[in-house]
Amino acid sequence: MLNNIFLYEIILKAILVIAPVLFLSLLFFSAPYGRYARRGFGPSMPNRWGWVMMEIPAVIIMFLFLLNETQSGISYIFLFLWEIHYLHRTFIFPFRLHSVSKPMPIIVPVMGFIFNMGNTYINGISLTIIHKYPTFWLIDPRFIIGTLLFITGFFINLQSDNVLLHLRKPGETTYKIPHGGLYSYISCPNYLGEIMEWLGWAIATWSLAGFAFFVWTFANLLPRALLHHRWYCETFSDYPKNRRALVPWIL
Ligand code: NDP
Repeated sequence: MLNNIFLYEIILKAILVIAPVLFLSLLFFSAPYGRYARRGFGPSMPNRWGWVMMEIPAVIIMFLFLLNETQSGISYIFLFLWEIHYLHRTFIFPFRLHSVSKPMPIIVPVMGFIFNMGNTYINGISLTIIHKYPTFWLIDPRFIIGTLLFITGFFINLQSDNVLLHLRKPGETTYKIPHGGLYSYISCPNYLGEIMEWLGWAIATWSLAGFAFFVWTFANLLPRALLHHRWYCETFSDYPKNRRALVPWIL
Protein backbone atom coordinates (compact mmCIF):
# COMPACT_ATOMS: atom_id res chain seq x y z
CA MET A 1 0.00 0.00 0.00
CA LEU A 2 2.76 2.48 0.98
CA ASN A 3 4.68 1.62 -2.18
CA ASN A 4 1.52 2.27 -4.19
CA ILE A 5 1.08 5.72 -2.66
CA PHE A 6 4.77 6.53 -3.17
CA LEU A 7 4.55 5.67 -6.87
CA TYR A 8 1.24 7.55 -7.14
CA GLU A 9 2.85 10.70 -5.75
CA ILE A 10 5.85 10.50 -8.05
CA ILE A 11 3.70 10.07 -11.17
CA LEU A 12 1.26 12.77 -10.09
CA LYS A 13 4.08 15.28 -9.54
CA ALA A 14 5.77 14.30 -12.80
CA ILE A 15 2.54 14.94 -14.79
CA LEU A 16 1.99 18.30 -13.09
CA VAL A 17 5.59 19.39 -13.72
CA ILE A 18 5.84 18.16 -17.32
CA ALA A 19 2.42 19.49 -18.45
CA PRO A 20 3.41 23.22 -18.54
CA VAL A 21 6.64 22.36 -20.40
CA LEU A 22 4.61 20.29 -22.87
CA PHE A 23 2.16 23.17 -23.29
CA LEU A 24 4.89 25.69 -24.14
CA SER A 25 6.68 23.27 -26.50
CA LEU A 26 3.49 22.36 -28.36
CA LEU A 27 2.72 26.04 -28.97
CA PHE A 28 5.78 26.16 -31.26
CA PHE A 29 6.33 22.54 -32.23
CA SER A 30 3.40 20.41 -33.49
CA ALA A 31 3.13 16.77 -32.37
CA PRO A 32 4.20 14.88 -35.53
CA TYR A 33 1.05 12.95 -36.40
CA GLY A 34 -2.02 13.57 -38.60
CA ARG A 35 -1.62 16.69 -40.77
CA TYR A 36 1.72 17.48 -39.09
CA ALA A 37 3.29 14.05 -39.76
CA ARG A 38 6.80 14.60 -41.11
CA ARG A 39 10.16 12.90 -41.47
CA GLY A 40 12.86 12.99 -38.83
CA PHE A 41 11.16 11.18 -35.94
CA GLY A 42 12.48 7.66 -36.56
CA PRO A 43 10.53 4.61 -37.73
CA SER A 44 6.77 4.77 -38.25
CA MET A 45 3.79 2.46 -37.92
CA PRO A 46 0.23 2.60 -39.37
CA ASN A 47 -1.69 5.25 -37.44
CA ARG A 48 -4.59 2.86 -36.66
CA TRP A 49 -2.32 0.51 -34.72
CA GLY A 50 -0.55 3.48 -33.18
CA TRP A 51 -3.85 4.55 -31.60
CA VAL A 52 -4.58 1.04 -30.31
CA MET A 53 -1.08 0.71 -28.84
CA MET A 54 -1.09 4.05 -27.06
CA GLU A 55 -4.57 3.79 -25.54
CA ILE A 56 -4.72 0.14 -24.52
CA PRO A 57 -3.02 0.55 -21.11
CA ALA A 58 -5.90 2.82 -20.07
CA VAL A 59 -8.41 0.03 -20.73
CA ILE A 60 -6.43 -2.80 -19.15
CA ILE A 61 -4.96 -1.12 -16.07
CA MET A 62 -8.29 0.40 -15.02
CA PHE A 63 -9.97 -2.96 -15.58
CA LEU A 64 -7.41 -4.60 -13.26
CA PHE A 65 -8.21 -2.03 -10.56
CA LEU A 66 -11.88 -2.83 -11.04
CA LEU A 67 -11.22 -6.52 -10.51
CA ASN A 68 -8.66 -6.41 -7.71
CA GLU A 69 -9.39 -3.54 -5.35
CA THR A 70 -12.31 -3.12 -3.03
CA GLN A 71 -14.20 0.08 -3.67
CA SER A 72 -17.45 1.93 -3.08
CA GLY A 73 -20.35 1.72 -5.53
CA ILE A 74 -19.60 5.29 -6.63
CA SER A 75 -16.11 4.28 -7.75
CA TYR A 76 -17.72 1.75 -10.05
CA ILE A 77 -19.62 4.59 -11.76
CA PHE A 78 -16.31 6.38 -12.39
CA LEU A 79 -14.63 3.22 -13.57
CA PHE A 80 -17.55 2.64 -15.94
CA LEU A 81 -17.30 6.19 -17.41
CA TRP A 82 -13.55 5.74 -17.85
CA GLU A 83 -13.95 2.41 -19.64
CA ILE A 84 -16.69 3.75 -21.94
CA HIS A 85 -14.33 6.52 -23.09
CA TYR A 86 -11.28 4.30 -23.49
CA LEU A 87 -13.00 1.28 -25.03
CA HIS A 88 -14.26 3.64 -27.72
CA ARG A 89 -10.90 5.40 -28.17
CA THR A 90 -8.94 2.12 -28.32
CA PHE A 91 -11.16 -0.28 -30.23
CA ILE A 92 -13.70 1.77 -32.21
CA PHE A 93 -12.16 5.16 -33.14
CA PRO A 94 -8.97 3.73 -34.79
CA PHE A 95 -11.00 1.37 -36.96
CA ARG A 96 -13.11 4.24 -38.29
CA LEU A 97 -10.10 6.24 -39.54
CA HIS A 98 -10.01 6.68 -43.32
CA SER A 99 -6.35 7.64 -43.32
CA VAL A 100 -5.34 4.13 -42.21
CA SER A 101 -2.21 3.99 -44.28
CA LYS A 102 -0.93 7.26 -42.85
CA PRO A 103 2.27 6.57 -40.94
CA MET A 104 2.63 7.65 -37.31
CA PRO A 105 6.18 7.90 -35.90
CA ILE A 106 6.48 5.11 -33.31
CA ILE A 107 7.72 7.66 -30.78
CA VAL A 108 4.15 9.10 -30.60
CA PRO A 109 2.41 5.86 -29.48
CA VAL A 110 5.37 4.98 -27.25
CA MET A 111 5.03 8.28 -25.39
CA GLY A 112 1.24 7.92 -25.32
CA PHE A 113 1.60 4.38 -23.96
CA ILE A 114 3.89 5.53 -21.13
CA PHE A 115 1.60 8.45 -20.28
CA ASN A 116 -1.51 6.26 -20.26
CA MET A 117 0.15 3.69 -17.99
CA GLY A 118 1.06 6.38 -15.44
CA ASN A 119 -2.16 8.35 -15.74
CA THR A 120 -4.40 5.28 -15.44
CA TYR A 121 -2.36 4.06 -12.48
CA ILE A 122 -2.78 7.29 -10.51
CA ASN A 123 -6.48 7.56 -11.35
CA GLY A 124 -7.00 3.89 -10.41
CA ILE A 125 -5.18 4.35 -7.08
CA SER A 126 -7.14 7.54 -6.47
CA LEU A 127 -10.52 5.86 -7.08
CA THR A 128 -9.83 2.70 -5.12
CA ILE A 129 -7.35 3.54 -2.34
CA ILE A 130 -7.22 7.29 -1.75
CA HIS A 131 -10.90 8.19 -2.07
CA LYS A 132 -13.71 6.22 -0.48
CA TYR A 133 -16.78 7.95 -1.88
CA PRO A 134 -19.80 7.77 0.45
CA THR A 135 -23.23 7.09 -1.06
CA PHE A 136 -24.31 10.73 -0.55
CA TRP A 137 -21.58 11.75 -3.04
CA LEU A 138 -24.28 10.88 -5.60
CA ILE A 139 -26.21 14.03 -4.66
CA ASP A 140 -23.16 16.26 -4.19
CA PRO A 141 -23.20 19.14 -6.74
CA ARG A 142 -19.58 18.30 -7.69
CA PHE A 143 -20.58 14.78 -8.68
CA ILE A 144 -23.69 15.91 -10.55
CA ILE A 145 -22.08 18.83 -12.42
CA GLY A 146 -18.87 16.91 -13.14
CA THR A 147 -20.65 13.83 -14.45
CA LEU A 148 -22.95 15.93 -16.66
CA LEU A 149 -19.91 17.79 -18.02
CA PHE A 150 -18.14 14.49 -18.70
CA ILE A 151 -21.13 13.01 -20.54
CA THR A 152 -21.76 16.22 -22.53
CA GLY A 153 -18.07 16.40 -23.48
CA PHE A 154 -18.09 12.74 -24.50
CA PHE A 155 -20.97 13.29 -26.93
CA ILE A 156 -19.48 16.52 -28.33
CA ASN A 157 -16.17 14.70 -28.89
CA LEU A 158 -17.91 11.73 -30.52
CA GLN A 159 -20.14 13.83 -32.75
CA SER A 160 -17.30 16.13 -33.82
CA ASP A 161 -14.88 13.28 -34.60
CA ASN A 162 -17.76 11.73 -36.54
CA VAL A 163 -18.07 14.83 -38.74
CA LEU A 164 -14.32 14.68 -39.51
CA LEU A 165 -14.40 10.96 -40.25
CA HIS A 166 -17.22 11.49 -42.78
CA LEU A 167 -15.39 14.24 -44.70
CA ARG A 168 -13.36 11.75 -46.73
CA LYS A 169 -14.52 9.04 -49.07
CA PRO A 170 -12.69 5.69 -48.70
CA GLY A 171 -9.14 6.06 -50.03
CA GLU A 172 -9.18 9.90 -49.96
CA THR A 173 -6.44 11.65 -48.00
CA THR A 174 -7.22 15.33 -48.62
CA TYR A 175 -8.52 17.77 -46.02
CA LYS A 176 -11.86 19.61 -46.29
CA ILE A 177 -13.66 22.29 -44.29
CA PRO A 178 -15.88 20.63 -41.66
CA HIS A 179 -19.41 21.97 -41.16
CA GLY A 180 -22.29 21.34 -38.79
CA GLY A 181 -22.69 21.13 -35.01
CA LEU A 182 -20.10 23.14 -33.09
CA TYR A 183 -18.00 23.49 -36.27
CA SER A 184 -20.20 26.51 -36.98
CA TYR A 185 -18.37 28.23 -34.11
CA ILE A 186 -14.97 26.60 -33.65
CA SER A 187 -12.35 24.64 -35.61
CA CYS A 188 -11.79 21.89 -33.02
CA PRO A 189 -14.96 20.88 -31.17
CA ASN A 190 -13.55 17.35 -30.81
CA TYR A 191 -10.79 18.79 -28.61
CA LEU A 192 -13.26 21.00 -26.71
CA GLY A 193 -15.36 17.88 -25.98
CA GLU A 194 -12.29 15.96 -24.77
CA ILE A 195 -11.22 18.84 -22.48
CA MET A 196 -14.78 19.08 -21.09
CA GLU A 197 -14.76 15.36 -20.36
CA TRP A 198 -11.63 15.45 -18.23
CA LEU A 199 -12.60 18.71 -16.54
CA GLY A 200 -15.88 16.98 -15.64
CA TRP A 201 -13.92 13.97 -14.42
CA ALA A 202 -11.71 16.15 -12.21
CA ILE A 203 -14.77 17.85 -10.69
CA ALA A 204 -16.83 14.67 -10.23
CA THR A 205 -13.96 12.72 -8.62
CA TRP A 206 -12.68 15.84 -6.80
CA SER A 207 -9.24 14.26 -6.98
CA LEU A 208 -5.67 15.41 -7.64
CA ALA A 209 -5.24 12.58 -10.14
CA GLY A 210 -8.30 13.81 -12.07
CA PHE A 211 -7.00 17.38 -11.92
CA ALA A 212 -3.59 16.28 -13.25
CA PHE A 213 -5.24 14.48 -16.16
CA PHE A 214 -7.31 17.56 -16.99
CA VAL A 215 -4.20 19.79 -16.92
CA TRP A 216 -2.37 17.34 -19.20
CA THR A 217 -5.24 17.16 -21.68
CA PHE A 218 -5.54 20.94 -21.77
CA ALA A 219 -1.76 21.31 -22.24
CA ASN A 220 -1.93 18.90 -25.18
CA LEU A 221 -5.05 20.04 -26.93
CA LEU A 222 -5.16 23.84 -26.61
CA PRO A 223 -1.89 24.30 -28.58
CA ARG A 224 -3.01 21.70 -31.16
CA ALA A 225 -6.37 23.49 -31.55
CA LEU A 226 -4.57 26.81 -32.12
CA LEU A 227 -2.31 25.18 -34.73
CA HIS A 228 -5.26 23.47 -36.47
CA HIS A 229 -7.15 26.76 -36.57
CA ARG A 230 -4.20 28.63 -38.08
CA TRP A 231 -3.67 25.78 -40.55
CA TYR A 232 -7.33 25.97 -41.68
CA CYS A 233 -7.19 29.76 -42.07
CA GLU A 234 -3.97 29.55 -44.11
CA THR A 235 -5.06 26.56 -46.23
CA PHE A 236 -8.62 27.55 -47.20
CA SER A 237 -9.22 31.09 -48.49
CA ASP A 238 -12.96 30.58 -47.94
CA TYR A 239 -12.59 29.39 -44.33
CA PRO A 240 -15.41 30.93 -42.23
CA LYS A 241 -14.03 34.12 -40.66
CA ASN A 242 -16.22 33.96 -37.54
CA ARG A 243 -14.85 30.60 -36.36
CA ARG A 244 -12.58 30.49 -33.33
CA ALA A 245 -10.11 27.73 -32.45
CA LEU A 246 -11.51 26.10 -29.32
CA VAL A 247 -14.00 28.23 -27.40
CA PRO A 248 -16.96 29.80 -29.28
CA TRP A 249 -16.63 33.64 -29.63
CA ILE A 250 -13.63 33.74 -27.29
CA LEU A 251 -10.52 31.74 -28.26
P1 NDP B 1 -7.69 15.47 -35.60
O1 NDP B 1 -8.87 16.37 -35.54
O2 NDP B 1 -6.38 16.04 -36.01
O3 NDP B 1 -7.98 14.24 -36.62
C1 NDP B 1 -8.97 13.27 -36.35
C2 NDP B 1 -9.22 12.45 -37.64
O4 NDP B 1 -9.95 13.22 -38.60
C3 NDP B 1 -7.94 12.03 -38.39
O5 NDP B 1 -8.17 10.81 -39.04
C4 NDP B 1 -7.75 13.14 -39.41
O6 NDP B 1 -7.01 12.71 -40.56
C5 NDP B 1 -9.19 13.44 -39.79
N1 NDP B 1 -9.37 14.86 -40.13
C6 NDP B 1 -9.13 15.90 -39.30
N2 NDP B 1 -9.44 17.07 -39.91
C7 NDP B 1 -9.86 16.73 -41.15
C8 NDP B 1 -10.32 17.51 -42.28
N3 NDP B 1 -10.40 18.84 -42.20
N4 NDP B 1 -10.65 16.85 -43.42
C9 NDP B 1 -10.58 15.51 -43.48
N5 NDP B 1 -10.18 14.72 -42.44
C10 NDP B 1 -9.82 15.33 -41.31
O7 NDP B 1 -7.62 14.77 -34.15
P2 NDP B 1 -6.42 13.96 -33.44
O8 NDP B 1 -5.98 12.89 -34.38
O9 NDP B 1 -5.43 14.90 -32.86
O10 NDP B 1 -7.23 13.34 -32.19
C11 NDP B 1 -8.17 12.32 -32.37
C12 NDP B 1 -8.98 12.15 -31.08
O11 NDP B 1 -8.13 11.84 -29.98
C13 NDP B 1 -9.76 13.40 -30.70
O12 NDP B 1 -11.04 13.02 -30.26
C14 NDP B 1 -8.97 13.99 -29.55
O13 NDP B 1 -9.80 14.67 -28.66
C15 NDP B 1 -8.32 12.76 -28.91
N6 NDP B 1 -7.02 13.12 -28.31
C16 NDP B 1 -6.92 13.23 -26.94
C17 NDP B 1 -5.74 13.65 -26.35
C18 NDP B 1 -5.65 13.85 -24.85
O14 NDP B 1 -4.66 14.42 -24.38
N7 NDP B 1 -6.61 13.39 -24.04
C19 NDP B 1 -4.54 13.92 -27.15
C20 NDP B 1 -4.75 13.78 -28.58
C21 NDP B 1 -5.95 13.40 -29.11
P3 NDP B 1 -5.40 12.79 -40.62
O15 NDP B 1 -4.90 11.75 -39.65
O16 NDP B 1 -5.08 12.49 -42.04
O17 NDP B 1 -5.00 14.20 -40.21
